Amino acid sequence: MTELDEFRATVRDWCAQHIPTDWRAAQTGFSDEEFVSFQKSWFAELHSAGYAVPHWPAEWGGGLSVPQQIVLYQELAAHDAPRLVLAFVGIHHAASTLLVAGTDAQRRRHLPAILDGEIWVQGFSEPEAGSDLAALRTSARRDGETFVVNGQKIWASGAMHADWCLLLARTDPNAPKRHGISYFLMDMATPGIEVRPIRNALGESHFCEIFLDDVVIPAANMVGTVHQGWQVAQATLGAERGMTMLELAERLSNAGFRWLVQACAPIDDSVVADRLAQFEIELAGLRGLCRDLVERSETGHAGPADASIVKLYYSELLQRITGFGAEIAGLPGQTVLTKPASSGWESGNWMLDFIGSWEWTIPGGASEIQRTIIGERGLGLPR
Ligand SMILES: Cc1cc2nc3c(=O)[nH]c(=O)nc-3n(C[C@H](O)[C@H](O)[C@H](O)COP(=O)(O)OP(=O)(O)OC[C@H]3O[C@@H](n4cnc5c(N)ncnc54)[C@H](O)[C@@H]3O)c2cc1C
Repeated sequence: MTELDEFRATVRDWCAQHIPTDWRAAQTGFSDEEFVSFQKSWFAELHSAGYAVPHWPAEWGGGLSVPQQIVLYQELAAHDAPRLVLAFVGIHHAASTLLVAGTDAQRRRHLPAILDGEIWVQGFSEPEAGSDLAALRTSARRDGETFVVNGQKIWASGAMHADWCLLLARTDPNAPKRHGISYFLMDMATPGIEVRPIRNALGESHFCEIFLDDVVIPAANMVGTVHQGWQVAQATLGAERGMTMLELAERLSNAGFRWLVQACAPIDDSVVADRLAQFEIELAGLRGLCRDLVERSETGHAGPADASIVKLYYSELLQRITGFGAEIAGLPGQTVLTKPASSGWESGNWMLDFIGSWEWTIPGGASEIQRTIIGERGLGLPR
């Protein structure tokens, strides 16, 4: 038995003992408080086994190799573990940003706190500044050792539960768009912050508007240097588009595809068989791309468009797979059901999952924007 096989056996045992089997039924109709409480206790359980932040460096509580991370994600998916919906931005976007661009003090303050359950939100997008993020207008005016922030954010996932926010704000209104932006860590308990949830197509309210009215942020909470926030934001977006995909690709391959095959059984139609074979090939491609991206990112060799390729490929394949699931389920599969908390696209209902899958082609830069990045930065095509 290889070391990796032993690791898989350990993870498999752990999964069999710790993953709740009835979580979908139990979480249908969960209140917000029940959802937060479950997500925090599930995160703590994964963390106590060393499985919550496998992608972090060992000194901060992670340190699994890429093959070990893949095995862990495969087993969690195969055992149908609930997703870490609430901790997602903290363990991926915030942590990656702090590890790349934060100060020692910022890392020491926040990385252990994230492991203790601190929840994060990403406050980048604004009305009129989504795809064109550099057009953002929220302002941060220097006032001694603080900045005073005014403006509005939108589509901020999980803001109503967040303790901290990754915030982009304009510190120099006269500089060219990308040069006058700074990056802040904002305590969501600061006076002047109002969070208003927005209802989505599934009837959920997980993303929000954030209104900022004279919100005072200590200058020590800036990540990177003043007016250089655009460069720091690339680390956050790189994590959102790329590193998070390792888990998502394994989940789609080891849970989503398995369910699709089950939904199609018995496979006695050649069109259905063809589609399944095509998906299996595409999933193998996705998993290869993800692994390659993570390994090359770890050694600083990722290409400028690699994360965009993975994000585009994952989100559009997810749409095709859940769309085919909805086709196979037919009319009975289109009964409106309530989505269980803690599920993303894996609610157990193909139609809900197909509708939900569309959200993956938008955040972190919509598909059209990813294609532009791939064309310009990856292929070197003229603007
Ligand atoms: C589920 C979900 C969660 C999100 N979570 C967060 C979050 O936590 N934090 C956060 O800050 N933001 C979040 N967002 C916001 C997301 O990043 C933006 O929605 C996204 O960047 C698109 O911006 P927009 O909505 O303003 O659309 P627009 O920029 O108005 O785009 C509308 C359409 O026009 C296309 N388009 C725009 N410009 C171009 C162009 N130059 N070339 C070609 N096509 C173009 C776009 O691709 C899109 O199809 C989330 C969005 C979703 C859907």
